[in-house]
Amino acid sequence: MTRPYDIAIIGGGINGCGIARDAAGRGLSVALYEMNDLGSGTSSWSTKLVHGGLRYLEYYEFRLVREALTEREILWKIAPHLIHPQRFVLPHHAGLRPAWLLRLGLFLYDHIGGRKLLPATRTLDLATDLTGKPLKPGMFHKGFEYSDCRVDDVRLVIANAQGAAALGAVIKPRTKVVNAVREGALWRLTVEDTRTGAIDTSTAKTLINAAGPWVEDVLSTKLGINAGAHVRLVQGAHIVVRKLYDHDRAYIFQNGDGRIIFAIPFEDDFTLIGTTDKDVQGDPACVAATSEEITYLCAAASDYFTKPVTAADIVWTFAGVRPLYDDGASDAKAATRDYVFELDQKPGSAPLLSIFGGKITTYRRLAAAALSKLAGELPAAAEPTWTASTPLPGGDFDANGLAALAAEIKNAAPFLDAPDAKRLARTYGRRTMDVLAGGRTKADLGQDFGAGLTEAEVRYLIANEWASTADDIVWRRTKLGLRLTRPQIAGLEAWLQSTALTASKA
Ligand code: FAD
Repeated sequence: MTRPYDIAIIGGGINGCGIARDAAGRGLSVALYEMNDLGSGTSSWSTKLVHGGLRYLEYYEFRLVREALTEREILWKIAPHLIHPQRFVLPHHAGLRPAWLLRLGLFLYDHIGGRKLLPATRTLDLATDLTGKPLKPGMFHKGFEYSDCRVDDVRLVIANAQGAAALGAVIKPRTKVVNAVREGALWRLTVEDTRTGAIDTSTAKTLINAAGPWVEDVLSTKLGINAGAHVRLVQGAHIVVRKLYDHDRAYIFQNGDGRIIFAIPFEDDFTLIGTTDKDVQGDPACVAATSEEITYLCAAASDYFTKPVTAADIVWTFAGVRPLYDDGASDAKAATRDYVFELDQKPGSAPLLSIFGGKITTYRRLAAAALSKLAGELPAAAEPTWTASTPLPGGDFDANGLAALAAEIKNAAPFLDAPDAKRLARTYGRRTMDVLAGGRTKADLGQDFGAGLTEAEVRYLIANEWASTADDIVWRRTKLGLRLTRPQIAGLEAWLQSTALTASKA
């Protein structure tokens, strides 16, 4: 019989994977179970910002904003391939929030989060600044430009899972926890391989429920426990259109309903527009951008841009469900974005920690706080976290060194096109040479699946990043789905199936 793990984690999103890495680095034994692909839940459907959340200041969420602002530079330094500084332009809209209020909010934003590397806010004259050019002429005179960061959300999840595995954690994607029961001081978990249906069991001293939008479902249907806290499922949708303008700034637009939407440069040739806030019920896996949400986002962007954004411009849509802690707010946009823990522990029995809420931005702090809740059981969990200064896999280079790394890659592999070298640097960081596996010519990289995706990269993803389907590769490990045709994606899927078949026969 195998020894019990110190911690079993349900959920391979940013919170589960972040906790797994932190815990494994403290010498704790960890098993993480994810019923689908890693990062396939809410963590792949975010607006992809590492941000303080300017809007949350209006709801007096000072603790959250301060923590999130502080995390921006920490995360940028430990993952400079995945996280990039981004300047945001906030046009003043006559009739909405007054300019003095915007400036006051941005003053706080600049000063409460220990900003050192990111540049401060500046005031813009939109009549003369290049960021005023794509906006409706004569409507927006004054604006503010401030700093936040962009993140490749799902790759941040994978990087944490890789980091955890390198430290000894057992990472099990496509493995659903179907049942967990307390047996005295241990949890006994029953897990199912979702591809084969094979059932397995394991035991653990502590259990963490990091199932995001499924947190309550796990409690009631897998553990048979009534939650004290409740999750509020709030859907958010995004649209992706071809690049709307030629500069590198993002926009944050105020909307008449009090909400804000972002228009953000995305994958070099596209603009990402989002998001919405809509209470939902039912299976969080089944959400999709609705026609109302698409109309809302097109209209909100068209209020600002000279050239209207229409449904015909859309190349991709996606939607996800925020697993917010239900604080009883009447309006979805006002529900707290902060995280809350529920610890279920009776004397002599194994503890269960459930996580409600949490942002991509605050995952590292959430992980450390979650572990500290288990310190009574696991003394190593009481130690201060080590994750602020240790680079994530591939992130061992200078925070401002991405362009230099891309040049280094192009130099070492001159047969790569410059955009491909840049994409590889941004995706794999210093691990790019492992992806290229010593190839000296393009032909050495094997089959070309299109859009720069080669057999060498696909094989790397299967061997090192738990990828097994075309979706894992073209929508999560990369965003090449935006560039590949349907037949190309089908060709990749067929290749993956035949390769898996050959491997299973070997
Ligand atoms: P998830 O990523 O959903 O992970 C939970 C996992 O648990 C899932 O993968 C699921 O498959 C798995 N699971 C469930 N049940 C079981 C089971 N029985 N067995 C095994 N596995 C199971 N945050 C930011 O910081 N910046 C942003 O810009 C931002 N924008 C957002 C925009 C939108 C529209 C949304 C929806 C969220 C946004 N967020 C943002 C918030 C952020 O994305 C989420 O808070 C975060 O991803 C939640 O991560 P998680 O690990 O808790 O959940």
